[in-house]
Amino acid sequence: MDGVKTPELTRTDPGTAPDGQPVPAIELVGIAKRFHSRRGVVAAVEQVDLTIGEGEFFSLLGPSGCGKTTTLRMIGGFEEPTEGQILLYGKDVVGVPPNHRDVNMVFQSYALFPHMSVFDNVAFGLRRKSVDGTEVKRRVDDMLDLVQLEGKSDRRPRELSGGQQQRVALARALVNRPRALLLDEPLAALDLKLRQAMQIELKRIQREVGITFIFVTHDQNEALTMSDRLVVMNAGRIEQLGAPREVYERPRTRFVAGFIGTSNLLTGTVASMDGSTAVIDTGADEELTAPEAASVGAEAGQTLDMTVRPEKILITPDRPAAGRCAIRGRVSEIVYLGTSTQYAVKTTDGSDLLVFLQNASDSRDIAERGQDVWLSWRPEHTLPLAPSTAAPATEEEDA
Ligand code: ATP
Repeated sequence: MDGVKTPELTRTDPGTAPDGQPVPAIELVGIAKRFHSRRGVVAAVEQVDLTIGEGEFFSLLGPSGCGKTTTLRMIGGFEEPTEGQILLYGKDVVGVPPNHRDVNMVFQSYALFPHMSVFDNVAFGLRRKSVDGTEVKRRVDDMLDLVQLEGKSDRRPRELSGGQQQRVALARALVNRPRALLLDEPLAALDLKLRQAMQIELKRIQREVGITFIFVTHDQNEALTMSDRLVVMNAGRIEQLGAPREVYERPRTRFVAGFIGTSNLLTGTVASMDGSTAVIDTGADEELTAPEAASVGAEAGQTLDMTVRPEKILITPDRPAAGRCAIRGRVSEIVYLGTSTQYAVKTTDGSDLLVFLQNASDSRDIAERGQDVWLSWRPEHTLPLAPSTAAPATEEEDA
């Protein structure tokens, strides 16, 4: 964004540990949160350990009820953990109220004051801290520039679109110069187009201000496109942590494989192990190998879950060349998606696999509904899966 000055935020010294390494922005150590209700105890978060670096765009991703909001609220100080430590820049903040933590939270509902102008909404926190009037004007104007709302400072929230209201909420949270911003599904109320535009905007703002963003979402695409790193949560626990590409290309468990991307699950019996590669028995003429199977503890005779991403699979009428994983099936559905076509194939071992093929300019229909075909892929794209680490959501009776 040319011509807009990046407002100065608290890029204060992150501090260093005795070994000279920078202190992480946020650390969760052995965090658990249990809620007591009339029906018993709800284990919302269990055994969460997490280290988030300064300036990271970090997402907590998972289905409804997996504990992501509770985790974020504990970092913000809106909930206290039942067990464990929360360190912000190396200091334990358990018991410290939200307004004394160096973080700020942006909610899905924006929570703007309806009777105040955009300017006054953003200035609110500064005025409460008795910041000098000229300084308030300078900082609020800088923030409104940053979120591209210059010229809208006199408007009331109801005179703005949803996306603009979300920008006001962002400006209001950033103007206090927090060291980290906590965002709880901030784009969920926006329609798809606006949400996609705001994803790009949020990323730009985070890059410009350079502070840590912790972003809660149940939308895998949102988490994959925006995050430097993310965790996938399941039933209160971390199922996998990594960069988006890592989590997509190498899901560790069946849960992650199913939650991120399209779930193409295969199950087979390990016929033999050849070093770390499992040779999987699926039926006559067919060949499946999983090169990294030893990493999930596969042994001959065991059942192994695997996944293969739909864009890695080829469909051919004839048996593919040796060396590829190959399985037979019958096309059950074909869906034209514009840039790609999706084929649903029922395999001879009873799995339902999806295949995505790009609609290139020279592509033609490669199979018809009801046609018998071969599906094939390179062995390294057979991803062996470990059992889920998460216990089912607990709801115990009170003793
Ligand atoms: P969503 O996307 O639906 O907000 P989430 O992943 O953010 O879900 P949490 O809101 O953290 O999940 O909730 C985790 C679990 O804790 C759920 O089972 C929820 O019902 C429970 N829970 C959350 N807050 C409370 C509370 N104040 N009292 C009792 N149970 C709660």
